[in-house]
Amino acid sequence: MALSTSLPASSLFAPALLAWYPRHRRDLPWRHTRDPYAIWLSEVILQQTRVKQGLPYFLDFMASYPTVQALAAAPEDEVLRHWQGLGYYSRARNMHHTAQQIVREYGGEFPGTYDGLLKLRGVGQYTAAAIASFAYDEKVAVLDGNVYRVLARVFGISADIAAPASRKIFQQLADSLIPAEHPAEFNQAIMEFGALQCTPAKPDCLFCPLQSTCFAFQHGLVQELPVKSKAKASRTRYFHYLVLRYQDLVYMRKRTGKDIWQGLYDFALVETELPAIAPTTLLDAVAALGATLAINHAEEPSAIFRHVLSHQKLEVRFHSLALQAPLSDQQLRVTGLQPFTQAEVESLPKPILITNYIS
Ligand code: SF4
Repeated sequence: MALSTSLPASSLFAPALLAWYPRHRRDLPWRHTRDPYAIWLSEVILQQTRVKQGLPYFLDFMASYPTVQALAAAPEDEVLRHWQGLGYYSRARNMHHTAQQIVREYGGEFPGTYDGLLKLRGVGQYTAAAIASFAYDEKVAVLDGNVYRVLARVFGISADIAAPASRKIFQQLADSLIPAEHPAEFNQAIMEFGALQCTPAKPDCLFCPLQSTCFAFQHGLVQELPVKSKAKASRTRYFHYLVLRYQDLVYMRKRTGKDIWQGLYDFALVETELPAIAPTTLLDAVAALGATLAINHAEEPSAIFRHVLSHQKLEVRFHSLALQAPLSDQQLRVTGLQPFTQAEVESLPKPILITNYIS
């Protein structure tokens, strides 16, 4: 719900942002291009991380896959390897599939409109608006977390930004503000303004060009806006990895199914309800894999590795276990495990947690 949408705020908003932007914007490589592929890549990466952390990934992807055709032709394992450390690996897989869709169904050319872009797999309203405005100058407003915050504060909108129904309110407002002559510049400006000036915790209200018309500032509501309901509580999961080794080989498997880290490699896993695992449970799990432990297999389990995902926290221990004999072909088939040398393990796409353990 809008507490106030005053006319002065509306008429001053775009001119103030467009004056602010050239003086404050960061010089970022995706701002020097109209290539929809590069813009799309940057947006997918920036949905995962902050600019500083995302920049090396963007440069690496553009160097490794300079065109959508190059990305489409790359093996999925290799793409996941380049994505390693960004998290949300389903985004990397979707991005790869989308590249293949563009090559297969669109002759390697991105659709040239917002509506056309929305038909691409994994491309939602935000990404379609970003590509359409930055690459084609289409007048369509972007809505990301920064934009929600700026609009909620300046126009006093108290609708819960976590509620899907609120999107319409913000989209209508943003669409009414975006100028026909500078849609790309306006979208960049409002996002950058939210990232640098009207920040979540410490907005720089003192030196803000919108201060005189900002509803939140004028009414002492800067810390209250935007309204965002709490995300659902995260659960804690306890993982015990069985790091089976035979001589110089270590057994890993590619994760399948709908759980986390689909397509990445990890070790045989036992998940427990409690943090600790009973020795008998561990030995039963080893036996279920058909593995026989060497006489002196025992090593202390690792320290706990903690990892936070969007709705879950992981507490992970690694149990390094030496085998008396290699797993047979049949055991490999049944368990999905495969033996890898140290060098091969290095090049596999893995959750960052596994990389940290190995190193
Ligand atoms: S006055 Fe403060 S809250 Fe309002 S737009 Fe400026 S920085 Fe944001």
